[in-house]
Amino acid sequence: MNKTALKVHSRFDVDQVRADFPLLSRMVHGKPLAYLDNGASSQRPTAVIEAVDDYERRHHSNIHRGVHTLSQEATSLYEAARDGLVRFIHARSRHELVFVRGTTEAINLVAQSYARPLMKSGDEVLITHLEHHSNIVPWQLMCEQTGARLVVAPMDQHGEVHVEAVEALMNERTRLFACAHVSNALGTVLPVERLVASAKARGIVTLIDGAQAVPHMPVDVQKIGCDFYAFSGHKLFGPTGIGVLYGREEILERMPPWQGGGDMILAVTFGKSTYNALPYKFEAGTPNISGAIGLGAAVDYLAGLDLDGAHRHEHALLSHATTTLGRIDDLRIVGTAPGKASLISFVVKGVHPHDLGTILDEDGIAVRTGHHCAMPVMDFFKLPATARASFAFYNTFDEIDRLAAAIERARAIFA
Ligand code: PMP
Repeated sequence: MNKTALKVHSRFDVDQVRADFPLLSRMVHGKPLAYLDNGASSQRPTAVIEAVDDYERRHHSNIHRGVHTLSQEATSLYEAARDGLVRFIHARSRHELVFVRGTTEAINLVAQSYARPLMKSGDEVLITHLEHHSNIVPWQLMCEQTGARLVVAPMDQHGEVHVEAVEALMNERTRLFACAHVSNALGTVLPVERLVASAKARGIVTLIDGAQAVPHMPVDVQKIGCDFYAFSGHKLFGPTGIGVLYGREEILERMPPWQGGGDMILAVTFGKSTYNALPYKFEAGTPNISGAIGLGAAVDYLAGLDLDGAHRHEHALLSHATTTLGRIDDLRIVGTAPGKASLISFVVKGVHPHDLGTILDEDGIAVRTGHHCAMPVMDFFKLPATARASFAFYNTFDEIDRLAAAIERARAIFA
């Protein structure tokens, strides 16, 4: 099969890396694009675009059941992508890696298939104050269905979640603890290893929402020790509509399927069906084959990067942005936890975030404005919305300087 040759960058060089991402060279409103909305979705390297294109042009067919050549090729590309992702997060085996639509679907799967059959009135699910709606609402739905209670661990004024504050809420009623690895609204990196250890010591099952972590740091699910870890392909330089639920094999084995249909069964009669082995038990119906192949290509691409260099570059970007934006009068950075990931939420007195976003767009600068699907975080800081610049390793210092200049332009307009 015509698999795209893996490009290897021995030393991190931002100009070289930018050349791998075709979209970054486009113009917006006559200005070079400065794409600072990576927290919402990142751009794809040519390697991903070509892997999907090659699959669509040459290998597409349905997977797993066909004896013909195309079906076998599509199956082996899909399963090779799974193997790449197993290596990427250091899962123990391919049985532990379920392809889903994204983080949202992964968390709903755990809420419905793991938690719902187990929970009863009086049981508790513990989350934190800085969660994305995807790590709040699935638990609320499950609580409504079972009579369980949602308990929320606090954060402080910096947006930091302290282990002791979470531990104080863990008790004999707590059946599950779920938290973000990195907050999408604030950039806070949570001490997930310590939190998971505290939960484990009390027999509490753990889920980590890794949507914002996997693009920024090496993730080793065995080292974290969690039972479940969820992430999305489109924030990891891969396609939309594909993501991963990692689950410890022992716990996935015990769970009933979430959805019923083709591919997740061994045998079906009208009286009873028996279920397929892991991970297929959780992959009912024809999956997003091209998406999985694209995501596999994304992690192969990352494996060819100097990731230490990439992470150092991102930290330097964050530090430059913190200093540069910090110098702007009336600009307040929201989320100041130590050791943050590379994103900055901010508000500018006198300029509504949506107006700010529109003015920045005129200058070719893409940032996100709004509540970032984290309304409880906005309520905590008594803000309706923030602007958020979120960086990837392909961003530059010049883009941050342009961001600062455009914010000054917006301030002048509203002065
Ligand atoms: N959790 C976090 C922390 C996120 O940032 C996001 C996406 N903004 C999600 C969950 C949901 O991801 P998706 O929409 O890809 O399912």
